[in-house]
Amino acid sequence: MLQPRELKLEDLGDLAEIIPGPEPTLQMAVHPIPRFGGKQRRGIIPVCEPTLSGNELKYVTDAVETNWISSAGGYIGRFEALFAEKVGARYGVACANGTVALHLALATTGLGPGDEVIIPTFTMIATANAVTYLGARPVLVDSEMATWNMDLNQVEEAITPRTRAIALVRTYGHPVDMDPLSAMAQKHGLFVLEDAAEAHGARYKGRGVGSLGDAAAFSFYGNKIITTGEGGMVTTNREDVARLAWNLRDHAFSTERHFWHKFLGYNYRMTNLQAAVGLAQTEQMETFVAARRANAAYYTGLLRQIPGVVTPPEADWASNVFWMYGILLTEEFGLTRDQLRVALAQRGIETRTFFIPMHCQPIYFDQYRGQRFPVAEDLCRRGLYLPSASNLTRDDIEVVVEAIQECRAG
Ligand SMILES: *Cc1c(COP(=O)(O)O)cnc(C)c1O
Repeated sequence: MLQPRELKLEDLGDLAEIIPGPEPTLQMAVHPIPRFGGKQRRGIIPVCEPTLSGNELKYVTDAVETNWISSAGGYIGRFEALFAEKVGARYGVACANGTVALHLALATTGLGPGDEVIIPTFTMIATANAVTYLGARPVLVDSEMATWNMDLNQVEEAITPRTRAIALVRTYGHPVDMDPLSAMAQKHGLFVLEDAAEAHGARYKGRGVGSLGDAAAFSFYGNKIITTGEGGMVTTNREDVARLAWNLRDHAFSTERHFWHKFLGYNYRMTNLQAAVGLAQTEQMETFVAARRANAAYYTGLLRQIPGVVTPPEADWASNVFWMYGILLTEEFGLTRDQLRVALAQRGIETRTFFIPMHCQPIYFDQYRGQRFPVAEDLCRRGLYLPSASNLTRDDIEVVVEAIQECRAG
């Protein structure tokens, strides 16, 4: 039987203090709405929820009524085409989720044991796992405070003769500075994979995230800016990558004969039902992105007045889509991240901690024992994200900010 990898907090040494405590229990609360004195709102403000206000039901109903509910059917191609067009890529390969989109994209490179892929340690586990599934080794790099993304200077230092690819993450929706990264990748002949799971609609110098590397992987999980419930997509400008990804997604059936397989393929297909939801969501992409950006600007304006709260970055060459609106606490705030989370949960406000870096994970700790990544560790120790759904209202934001202010005051 497979045994879990145990990692005791004591074994983490001074890293133990960055690891978040247990999830606080959310309590239903009565929120006074500050602007509209007197009016009250009961319940919780979730960290995220989908907005299904477009053609979702209509398209899903059509898929059911026409009997196309599996992985053939018109919505898949339409979703792939529209989504790829919106991110500025030539091809879209829809698949089962964001993790397998990463796996598929990397599989097209022929990556295997002995190969290295550079990734940020500050990411969600799927980035590292997709590399590990192929038998290759993730090489970890620290982040930079300016964007919370991978530090490009350290990427260059991490390149070895075994390096085959760089997988970069658009953390919480903030793009990576692609021009220097692409130059570096070109110089060393490396494949560039954008983990764009958090950055639907983000832009770099006006160009769409998802069209900037050799391939990109998007997630359409329930909390992502575009959702299909579960789902993912590889986008690319490279015809060879797209063709191979379509084939590998579907068991790598060959064109010569059916049931004849020349690649180790996968069943990573998306269903027409999910694609129906995805097409309807993608039609609203600009609206969702505009809502996230407007909400972030509103949060930032209010939170700037609270000492000890650091608001999220946006470089001047970037358009951040604020998938999640993250903040950092400084000592001046007076409460730790965990203390603030508990206090907000008591007021019915849901939050999440930042990623726990890969080198602190039970499954990866031994591989990176002794390596330290101070910026990623600091982000993990001090960061949390606030309710961020596209359908969040200004009233919700005022409730959250007021609660933060109240918690600080004690
Ligand atoms: C959500 C996410 C994924 C994984 O997507 P799933 O659809 O849940 O498999 C991968 N990378 C990052 C950075 C993510 O945020």
